[in-house]
Amino acid sequence: MTDRINKEPRVEEIFASNVFTLEKMRERLPKNVYKAVLEVMENGGELSLKDADVVAKAMKDWAVENGATHYTHWFQPLTGTTAEKHDSFVSILDDEGHMMMEFSGRQLIKGEPDASSFPSGGLRTTFEARGYTSWDITSPVFLKESGTGRTLCIPTAFCSYKGEALDKKMPLLRSTEALSQQAMRIVRLFGNTTSKKVVTYTGAEQEYFLVDRNFFMQRADLKFAGRTLFGAPAPKGQEMDDHYFGVIRERVGNFMRDLNTELWKLGVPAKTQHNEVAPGQHELAPVFERANIACDHNQLVMEAMKRVAVHHDLRCLLHEKPYASVNGSGKHNNWSLATDDGINLIDPGDTPERNIQFLLVLACILKAVDTHADLLRQSASVVGNDLRLGANEAPPAIVSVFLGEQLEDVVRQLVETGAATGHIGGGRLRTGVSTMSDIAKDATDRNRTSPLAFTGNKFEFRMVGSSDSVAGSTTTLNAIVAEAFSEAADELEQAENFDMAVHDLIKKYLTEHRRIIFNGNGYAPEWVEEAARRGLPNIPNMLAAAEALTTDKAVALYEKFGIFTRPELESRKEIVYDYYAKTINIEALTMIDMAGRQIIPACMHYEKELAETVVAVHGAGADTTTEERRLAQVAAHINEAQSALEALTAAAGKAQGIGDVHEKALFYRDKIVPLMQDLRTPCDQMEVLVDRSMWPFPTYQDLMFEV
Ligand code: ADP
Ligand code: MG
Repeated sequence: MTDRINKEPRVEEIFASNVFTLEKMRERLPKNVYKAVLEVMENGGELSLKDADVVAKAMKDWAVENGATHYTHWFQPLTGTTAEKHDSFVSILDDEGHMMMEFSGRQLIKGEPDASSFPSGGLRTTFEARGYTSWDITSPVFLKESGTGRTLCIPTAFCSYKGEALDKKMPLLRSTEALSQQAMRIVRLFGNTTSKKVVTYTGAEQEYFLVDRNFFMQRADLKFAGRTLFGAPAPKGQEMDDHYFGVIRERVGNFMRDLNTELWKLGVPAKTQHNEVAPGQHELAPVFERANIACDHNQLVMEAMKRVAVHHDLRCLLHEKPYASVNGSGKHNNWSLATDDGINLIDPGDTPERNIQFLLVLACILKAVDTHADLLRQSASVVGNDLRLGANEAPPAIVSVFLGEQLEDVVRQLVETGAATGHIGGGRLRTGVSTMSDIAKDATDRNRTSPLAFTGNKFEFRMVGSSDSVAGSTTTLNAIVAEAFSEAADELEQAENFDMAVHDLIKKYLTEHRRIIFNGNGYAPEWVEEAARRGLPNIPNMLAAAEALTTDKAVALYEKFGIFTRPELESRKEIVYDYYAKTINIEALTMIDMAGRQIIPACMHYEKELAETVVAVHGAGADTTTEERRLAQVAAHINEAQSALEALTAAAGKAQGIGDVHEKALFYRDKIVPLMQDLRTPCDQMEVLVDRSMWPFPTYQDLMFEV
C-alpha cells in the first residue's frame, strides 16, 4: 500500500489538469481575445463570432493535445441529472479521405439538441421539438474521462425555441444577477463606491451511501428505485454512534482516494471526507465557490461518485432514504454573499450590534424567509426527500431560522428597546490540562436540527435532498433575498435621514418577522405545535409544496426579477406532479415484482418445508407444537402479503388509467403509497422468520455492513 501511495501524483500537479482554466486561456489566446472573454465573464455582453472562433480553436487544440476526440454541450435538464450528446471533432477535408479536427465558435456558442424528449411540463409540444443549449462562459470547460474516452464538456444552459428555461442553470444565472443588482443598491447606501457586483457563493456538502455492487445487482429495488422497498432492520443500526467520524475502512478509503483524484483533476476543490451517521453512509464537502460553478461542480461530484464506485465494485446511492430505520442523506447548501472585492455581507464582524449593514442584511433575509417559507420548502422537494424531511437527523418540513445565542440576543435588544448596545461573546473554554491551551469559543453553538442555520458568516440550508441539484434552492434563496433587498432599498433611497430610516426599518422587519427565528430543537414534537401557533407553514410533502410555485406572490416575485415567467413556473409544477407519479409508479411496480416473484414464492417454499416437517415429526411420534406454530405464523403472513399484493396490483392498474396528471399524482400519494406500506410490513415480518438460506436477496445486514 505504501508503494501505491508513494506513486500517486501530487495534488498540485493534477489539480484542474482537466480544466481549460483562465490561466490556460491566457497562455493560449491572443491578448485582445482573452480580454474580451474576461469582459463578458465579469460584465456580461456577447463575444463576437470572430473571437468565439479563436476561443473554440484554442479549446479544441488543448482538448485534442490531451487526447480528446469529442465535445459535448453539457447541460442540466429538469430530469435532475446532466445530459450530454457527443460530437467528434472529425470533419472530412477532401475526396481523398483526409480529415481534420474542427471546432468553430458557432459550435461552441450554440447547440441544438432535440428538446422533445426532455421534460418541459407542457412548455413545448412534441412538434415544437427545437431546443437550444447556450454556452455559459462563466463556468470553465473541462475534459471528462469515462468509458467513451476524453470528452470536452462545455457547460451550457438549455432553453426552448421561444427562450423559456428548460433547465436549472438558466434561472440560477438569472437569479445571481438579480441578487447582485439589488444587493449593490444596499451596499451603495452604506457608502460603498468601489465594489462592482455582489457574488453568490455556495458550498454543497454531499452525503451518500456505498453498497457492494454484487448485493446491489441482486436487488431490483436498488436497481430501479435507488432505495430499498423491503427490508427488516439489521440487529444493529446507528444507535451506538460508532460510525460517525469512525475510522474509514480500507475499501471505502480506496474509493475516496480515487474520487478525490478524479475531482481534483476536474478542478473540484474536494476538501472534507468522513463517515456519516448511518452504517455505510459517508460525506464529501468541497470548498465553496461561486454559486454557478459550485452547482456545476456538485453535479460532477455526484457523477464521479457513481463512476468511481463502479471501479471499486461498489455502487453509490444518492437517494435521500435508501434504508428505513437509519438516517437518510441530505445536501447542505452553504450560502453567502460577498462583493467582488471580498466583503462578505453575511459576516457580523466582532461587534454585530454596531454593524448596521449586517443587521439590515440579516433583517432582509429573515423577512425573505418568513415571507416565502413555502417557496424555500418547495425548493428542497424531490420525491426521495418526502421520506426524509422531518425524520431522523433531517430538518423538519417547517422552515425556520437558527441564529444562535449571540445574534438572537442582538435581535431581542433591537426589537424590545430599539437599540442594541452589546453582544454576548464566545468567551474561553478552560481545558483543565496544563499542557493544552484554552480554546476560544465560537459565539454560536451548532444546531443540527435547524433547516436554515446561521453558521458564523453564511447560512446553511439543510433541507436539500442528496440527489437534488443545489441550483434550485440557490435560485430560490437568491430570488427571495433580492426581493427583500429591493424593497428595503426602495424605502431607504428615498429617506431624508438615512441613519434614522435604516434603524427604523431594521426594527420593523425584525419585529414583523421574528417568528421565523427558532433556536430550539427542531425535531421535538412541541416545535410542530409552537410553529402552528406562530402561523408558520408546515408543508408535509412534495405535491403540497408544489402549489407554492404558482401563487400570485411567487409569480410576482419571479417575474419582477426576470427569473421565471408564469408559464415557466407552471411548467415546473407540472413536472413535479409528473415526476412524482412516475417515480411512485416505478416503486410500486418494483414491489409487485419482488413480492410476487421472489418474496412470496420463497416464503411458500419455506411453508411447504415446514408442513413436510410437521408430517415427518408427527410420523416419528414427536410433539409438533413448535413446528405448527411457526407454520401458522408464516401462513398468516403469506396470506396478508398476498392480499396486499393483489390490492396494490389493482390500484397500480387503476392509477395508470388516470389521464389528468394532478389527479394521478394525488392518487399515487394518497392511495398507492399506503398500499405499498401494507405490502412491505408482512414481507419484512417474514424476512425475520424464514430460513436465511431461502431468502431471495441480500438483506440490510449485508447491504449496510459489508462494504
Ligand atoms: P460546518 O461544519 O459549519 O458545516 P464547514 O466549515 O465545514 O462548516 O463548511 C461547510 C461547507 O460550507 C463547506 O463546503 C465550506 O466550503 C462552505 N463554506 C464555508 N464558508 C462559506 C461561505 N462564506 N459561503 C459559502 N459556503 C461556505
Ligand atoms: Mg455543515
